[in-house]
This record gives sequence, structure tokens and C-alpha cells, in this order.
Amino acid sequence: MKDIFTVLGYDIGGTKLGVGLVRSDGKLLGQARIENKDTKPEDILPQMVEEGMKLIAENGLTKDDVRAIGISAPCPADIPNGILTAPTNNQNWRNVPIKQYLSEHFGIKTYFDNDANAGVLAEWFFGAGKGAKDIIYLTMSTGIGGGIIANGKLVQGASYHAGEIGHMVLTIDGPDCPCGLKGCYEAYCGGVATAKRIQRELADQPNHPIIKLAGGKLEDVDLIALEKAVRAGNDYAVALWDEICLRNAQAYGMLLNMLNPEKIILGTIAWAAGDLFMEPVLKYVPRFAWKETYEACEIVCSELQREIGYYAGAAVALNHLREEGEFQV
Ligand SMILES: [Zn+2]
Repeated sequence: MKDIFTVLGYDIGGTKLGVGLVRSDGKLLGQARIENKDTKPEDILPQMVEEGMKLIAENGLTKDDVRAIGISAPCPADIPNGILTAPTNNQNWRNVPIKQYLSEHFGIKTYFDNDANAGVLAEWFFGAGKGAKDIIYLTMSTGIGGGIIANGKLVQGASYHAGEIGHMVLTIDGPDCPCGLKGCYEAYCGGVATAKRIQRELADQPNHPIIKLAGGKLEDVDLIALEKAVRAGNDYAVALWDEICLRNAQAYGMLLNMLNPEKIILGTIAWAAGDLFMEPVLKYVPRFAWKETYEACEIVCSELQREIGYYAGAAVALNHLREEGEFQV
């Protein structure tokens, strides 16, 4: 019989911080959210300990029952040392040694990884990637992050930057990306990049239907407004959506021929838009991949969807325990 034990996970998002107490068989024992907009680490770190302790106590456990803690963190970060170096969505957090803080305050071994790696681990242990050996997870939200499991192991890379799929360059001299390169996949398909593009292209059309669907303000136009406009049949929106689907298919095709995965698991945009996104993307992928790699792979939506944050940190902890031989998938 498999040893069943408990881990505690933290997922540090831009506006919310998720806490999840998770059993190794996938049962979410408890969850909490901490507001994390414009916060300071000296306020949030003690709250993280407090909420974690509360979840442990609510389940009739003590911290001695928790085998490990995992942290899913935004980039950029110092992965091996567990330091949040300069998260782009919160200027107050600079060089915060969060792994050391939690491990000292709980007295429990603590592990740290970036959120896309945590995402692929969460889908692998608990979601759409269960039982597979070769999977890729893409976050597909404001930006595009990636995590890769190859031959049954998380791919970290020589300097912990493996999986930066959103910054594969799709076109020479393409649109600027905040990372400093031009023509990145994220510059074509990321939520923020797409919103900015629409805002730029419609700056002189205040009555455009997309702006109305965003509530009337150009600066509020986002992917949700774009999706609504596509469903309403607006020509500009339909053409842009089709271009985005084609670019996504190009990126998936590159991944298929590079890594020959069993599954590519897609985050937010894919499950939120459903068939409106998946149908054109699946139609276009064969233009960019060999039949052999396309037919070996299922391109699917995330199973954990908006719950993924409660599992992400725990999955980081479980993966380290797995690599140390304490846990089997
Ligand atoms: Zn980039």
C-alpha cells in the first residue's frame, strides 16, 4: 500500500496568494487565500505561516504531520536558493528569501520552483497529466509560461530556465517583448501583449464593439472582451483571434517535434474559451508538426483549471520527495 502523507503548498500570485494543504493521494484537505496586491513581504510572510498553521490545525494535524512545504513562485527567481528576486507584478518584493523564512518558521523542509514548473507538476500528479511520462504544461494567461516533464522528470535546465516557452522567437524582428527580445511567442499570444495590441490598433475607434464589450474604456480591453467580440462575430476580433490561434499552433508544433510529448496541457485561455480556441488551434497544428508527433500527442485543457494554485506549491514539495525516493507517482 502506498504511504499517504500531507504536504503544505503556497502559490504566490500577483494579486492573490494561495495556500493548500494536500494529501499525497491528491485530496485537497484545506485551502486559503491571502490578498497580495501591493503588499509588503514583512506583512505577508507572517500571514503565510499563520494561514498554514490554521489549515494544519483545522484538519486535526500538527506541523509534525506535514512532510514538506512547497512554494510556487513568479519569475524571475533564484530557484536553488528559494529567493523571490524581482517579481514584475509587485515592486515591494525584492530579494525575499521566502524558502528560508518558511523552513525556519515551520521547522519543515521547504522546496521552491517557478509557477509554470509547479503547474506542470500539479497536472502531472493530480490533473490531466496523470500517468504520463512526457508532458508539457503552458500557463496561457497574462503571459505564457511553460513546464516540461520529459522521460518522467521535471526539466530544469543548466541555469533553471528550461520551459521558457513563451520566449521562443517565432518571427525574426517581430513585435517587441518585455523580455527584451522581438517576436516572442508571448508577444503574439500572451494576454497582456494581446490587450496592448488591441488598445494600440483601436486607439482612434472609441465606438468599436470590443471597447463596448470591455465596459466602454479602451484601457480595460482584454482577452475576455476579445472573446466576447469573436462570439458576436465582429470582423476585427475574428481575424485577430484566428491569427492568435495560428501562432499558438505554431508554438505547439515546435514543441511536438522538439519533445514528442504525450500531452500538451493548456492553461487559462484554452479552458476559458473552450472550443472557440481548441478547434482552430487543433486544425492548424498539423501545419507545424510531423504527423508522427502530432498523432502521438493529445492537446488538452488543464483539469485543475482555477484550482491549480492550491495544488501547485504542494506539487513542488511532492516532486522533491519523489526525486529523493520518498514518493512514487
Ligand atoms: Zn520574450
